[in-house]
Amino acid sequence: MSDENAVRPAQQQEPPGLTAPMDPQPDHGEHSYTGHGLLTGRRALVTGGDSGIGRAVAIAFAREGADVAISYLPEEDEDAQETARWVREAGRTCVLVPGDLRDEQTARGAVRTAVDGLGGLDLLVNNAGFQMARRDSLADVTTDDLDRVMKTNLYALFWVTQEALEHLGEGSSIVNCTSIQAYQPSQSLVDYASTKAAINNITVNLAAELGERGIRVNAVAPGPIWTPLQPATQPPEKVEVFGQDTPLGRAGEPAEVAHAFVFLASSTTGSYVSGTVLGVTGGKPVF
Ligand code: NAD
Ligand code: MG
Repeated sequence: MSDENAVRPAQQQEPPGLTAPMDPQPDHGEHSYTGHGLLTGRRALVTGGDSGIGRAVAIAFAREGADVAISYLPEEDEDAQETARWVREAGRTCVLVPGDLRDEQTARGAVRTAVDGLGGLDLLVNNAGFQMARRDSLADVTTDDLDRVMKTNLYALFWVTQEALEHLGEGSSIVNCTSIQAYQPSQSLVDYASTKAAINNITVNLAAELGERGIRVNAVAPGPIWTPLQPATQPPEKVEVFGQDTPLGRAGEPAEVAHAFVFLASSTTGSYVSGTVLGVTGGKPVF
């Protein structure tokens, strides 16, 4: 592979990956996101809010006027502290909720910690997720990989959402993070892609159930976005050209995805939007 078209150096981390070693550093909207009061006084839980898309969402929500709890793996504390710093700089509360969501009691406890710290809950962003792409086919999918992907992407989403629904009320909103992989699955991501297709399905189903309670449920489907997940789970040579196969010819930044979460979470902009998936894919189709 020639380096001429490479947009970033080949690089590798071990999961879950951290922000500091990434080259270049991702843009989470730290110096660009301007709030418009779209989430004033709302209380949000963002799972996986330490880094990547979750960090960009936490910063955007805070600048729109929301207090934010972020859940993350304990080994990601340095990333969580950085997200918290930006949320607090926006003048909002940030509640830190470390814990492995693959464990049911931890997942349910994370919601309760968020509710206690925020004084209630209005918005849930199911963003935590895991993939492993360092393999070529179904034959290479280990049971450990399968367990980690299914538990993180699906079991945790069920547990967290069930627990959150004890607290969400009229005007609340749930935004799930799905993926272009639900529509255009890569062979190396066969297990992960299947969880994202399931999340689309769950989104539609929950929107139907929760509409009568005045709770909207939607999803954002990102395309290739430059986050720690990529160097932590892709082969280094794929990181080099990550996102170049999109119509826009590049990977997206977390900051570019955050607007979609705000649009769907806000009762101002998203009041009649439920059961839909909003693509932020650099031009790849989400239908
Ligand atoms: P990221 O690594 O920055 O964020 C994922 C987060 O999930 C981690 O920071 C971690 O805190 C959390 N997480 C993972 N396993 C967990 C566990 N067992 N317990 C608790 N938390 C756990 O990467 P990201 O790309 O910002 O990922 C956020 C979401 O975006 C994921 O759902 C991912 O599938 C989705 N997504 C990412 C891309 C992309 O190209 N980056 C594309 C489509 C969808
Ligand atoms: Mg992280």
